[in-house]
Parts: sequence; structure tokens; C-alpha cells
Amino acid sequence: MTTAGKAERLLLDGRVTVRAADLDGRLTANVEGDHGLWSVHRTAGGSWTCSCPAAWFTRACSHMAAVRLITGDQRP
Ligand SMILES: [Zn+2]
Repeated sequence: MTTAGKAERLLLDGRVTVRAADLDGRLTANVEGDHGLWSVHRTAGGSWTCSCPAAWFTRACSHMAAVRLITGDQRP
């Protein structure tokens, strides 16, 4: 399955929980992935991070993609 497909699955399964968001653009969300509970952050500058190993190695993962679907921020 593609990253985009996995992201849609996470959303539809209710595995994305937004914990905090502010008007500066910061956002924190928890995503219950197949291999653990990960923490996704968006900084005020628009940078995304995720605590999962895939994000560490590739700087992209389905967890960040899922939260981006909510925010509409599709920039890499
Ligand atoms: Zn991740």
C-alpha cells in the first residue's frame, strides 16, 4: 500500500488524534500506527516531524501524511 493509502486508512480508522493546535500553525497529534503510538508535530515554520523510525530514516511516513490530510498542508 502506498503512503497516501496508509494515511487515508489511519484517518478512516480513527487512529489520528489531534492534541493541540494554535494560531501560529503549531500542531501536535498522536497517531496509532501498526507498530506503535507516534507523535506528529508541525512547527510554526511549517516543518513536520514524527517520532517513528520511518520518519527518522526517510523524513516521510504515513503518520505525517495522515495529519497533513487533516490540515490541508501537502507540502513536503
Ligand atoms: Zn511516522
